[in-house]
Amino acid sequence: MGEVLKIEHLSKSYEDIKVLDDISISVKAGEVLVIVGPSGCGKSTLLRCINGLEDIQDGKVSIEGRTGMVFQSYDLFPHMSVLQNLMLAPLKVQKRRKDEVKKEAEAMLERVGLSSKKNNYPRQLSGGQKQRVAIVRALIMHPEVLLFDEVTAALDPEMVREVLDVILDLAKQNKTMLIVTHEMAFARAIADRVIFLEGGKIIEDTSPAQFFDDPRTERAKKFLSTFEYEKVHE
Ligand code: ADP
Ligand code: MG
Repeated sequence: MGEVLKIEHLSKSYEDIKVLDDISISVKAGEVLVIVGPSGCGKSTLLRCINGLEDIQDGKVSIEGRTGMVFQSYDLFPHMSVLQNLMLAPLKVQKRRKDEVKKEAEAMLERVGLSSKKNNYPRQLSGGQKQRVAIVRALIMHPEVLLFDEVTAALDPEMVREVLDVILDLAKQNKTMLIVTHEMAFARAIADRVIFLEGGKIIEDTSPAQFFDDPRTERAKKFLSTFEYEKVHE
């Protein structure tokens, strides 16, 4: 399988502060990359650079096809129904046929367990339901690479699972994904590869087994010791 995303020597600064420092990553089709690291280490900035939301000072990002991004805040349009939210970009941006887009939106809602909510407005949905709609909104644009930035961080604990299950289902469908998360049990279960960032640099780029069982660096050990993920999820 070929590479769908290649990041070469990417550096990014805000004013004179370097927040990403010589980042190189390549991602193959169907690969799931989990990015972890302490707050402020540059995870969101990295996803935003990949998605073209930020200009970069050095290096290069090459993507085969489109990216779709899902954020911590779902940002659905409040005055539009679920179905209208989903259909907006495919109709306006991609100029696709309405009947075809509607059919696809309904099928995708079914897959995430939200068929009955298609005519509801965002305010009538729980946080977990809104986040699942936001994931469908990204998927319906048929991106080559999906980027998830702490999509469960703002959810009540009982809604985290339903959103993570949707992402696990996407992994089963061989979607290429970059996932920033603090859910360590989930990270371990879904990752093909884990990248540990600190201070804008890649400290580890390794397998989940290696990273979680036997991290090479003291920094990663220290970071992992702040989570009690095994106890919590068993
Ligand atoms: P993370 O997602 O890992 O918590 P971020 O990528 O959001 O980290 O931020 C990385 C660093 O860049 C932080 O020090 C943050 O304060 C800084 N930063 C992020 N966005 C901006 C911005 N728009 N202007 C200036 N500094 C920023
Ligand atoms: Mg962030």
